[in-house]
Amino acid sequence: MLNRQLPLTINVKKLTEQEIQLEGALPVSKLTRVLEAVESAEGEIYLELAFRKDEQSARVAQGQASCTVKLLCQRCLKPYEHALKASFSLAFVYTEAQEERLPEIYDPVLMQDDNVRLVDLIEDDLILALPIVAHHTSVECQTLRYEEGESVAEVSSTKENPFKVLEALKDREFKGSKNKP
Ligand SMILES: [Zn+2]
Repeated sequence: MLNRQLPLTINVKKLTEQEIQLEGALPVSKLTRVLEAVESAEGEIYLELAFRKDEQSARVAQGQASCTVKLLCQRCLKPYEHALKASFSLAFVYTEAQEERLPEIYDPVLMQDDNVRLVDLIEDDLILALPIVAHHTSVECQTLRYEEGESVAEVSSTKENPFKVLEALKDREFKGSKNKP
């Protein structure tokens, strides 16, 4: 499916006056700061942003973006695909006084003029949405280890009895709290 390509730069005044809903894609290669934070990424990022003026006449945009990036699993050091998603609640301000009056639900975007790069609106939130420690789900990580020829016995022993593992954990927590002064 071909996605409509979004413009790289948008005019906030026009979009909010006309209450435009932007929907389309950008090449992930434009997200240079996201690319620095991940192992690799290619393809497109899908973006929906609805522009309007809110009840207080603030110029705002709300929506979400999603793309697939590759992260390096910190357990097995192999790359894996991660669905990166972020949602946005932005308000465009032209002065610091305007910024101070904004309700807390909005992230302020300080404007120089009416134009802004679309990438600049979404990159911060996408980077914040990345996992703090990247890793496979434990099942996927174990499957990988298994594929690499670790003995079947070893793999099955780690999978053996999830409840036992849980009990052991609970036990430890309980003892831990009892030992506290
Ligand atoms: Zn892994």
